[in-house]
Amino acid sequence: MRLILLGPPGAGKGTQARRLVAKYGIVELSTGEALRAAVQAGTAIGRQAQEIIAGGNLVPDEMVVGIVEQRIAQPDARKGFVLDGFPRTVPQAVELDRMLQAKGLALDSVIELRVDEVALLKRIEGRIAEMKARGEPLREDDSPQVLHNRLKTYREQTAPLIDYYRQRGVLRTVNGMASIADVAAEIDGALEVPARAGSP
Ligand code: ADP
Repeated sequence: MRLILLGPPGAGKGTQARRLVAKYGIVELSTGEALRAAVQAGTAIGRQAQEIIAGGNLVPDEMVVGIVEQRIAQPDARKGFVLDGFPRTVPQAVELDRMLQAKGLALDSVIELRVDEVALLKRIEGRIAEMKARGEPLREDDSPQVLHNRLKTYREQTAPLIDYYRQRGVLRTVNGMASIADVAAEIDGALEVPARAGSP
C-alpha cells in the first residue's frame, strides 16, 4: 500500500499516518519530522533548513526529494509507505512519480484531508495555547504569525496537487473536520474502493 496524505498544517495527517502504519504494516515518512531531526542533529541539511522552516516556508525541492528517495529504497519500505508532508509542490510530485516509475511501482491513493481554514486556525491556535499553558516545548514554527504563512504556503504551492492527483484518478477526499475516529473510518472506506479503477 503506497499512500500520500495531503492537507494543510494541523489537518491531522500525522495522527492518521500513524494509524495506517499500524493497520497496513507500512512505514511512515514525514519530511517535516525528518527535517526537524536533521536540524536537531546539526547536519548540513539541518543547518540550511532551520531558518526556512522557522519562517514557515518550504525548503528546496532537492533537499526533500533526496530524503524521500533514500527512505523508500530501504528494505522495510517494500510493503509500502505513507507519506506525510511530501510532496508539497508539483515538481516534488513529478519527482516522486519518476522515482516510483523507475521501480515499477505506483501510488495506490492520495488522501486529501479537507478542512475549513478558519476552524483550523482556531484549532491550532488553541493547541499552541494549551501547550504553552502546560509548559511544553513548542515547535519554532508554531506561532500564530508563522502559522498564517504556513497556510498561505500550503494554498499557493501545495493545494495545486489536489488537481494533479485528481487528474491521475488517485485522489480520495475525506472530511478532516470530523472526529479522529470518523476521519479514520472515512479513510478506510475510501481505501476499499480501488482508486485506480476506471482512471486513465
Ligand atoms: P506542518 O505541521 O506544517 O504540516 P511539517 O511538520 O510537515 O509541517 O513540516 C514543517 C516544515 O518543514 C514546513 O513548514 C517546511 O518548511 C518543511 N518541509 C516539510 N516537508 C517539506 C517538503 N516536502 N518540501 C519543502 N519543505 C518541507
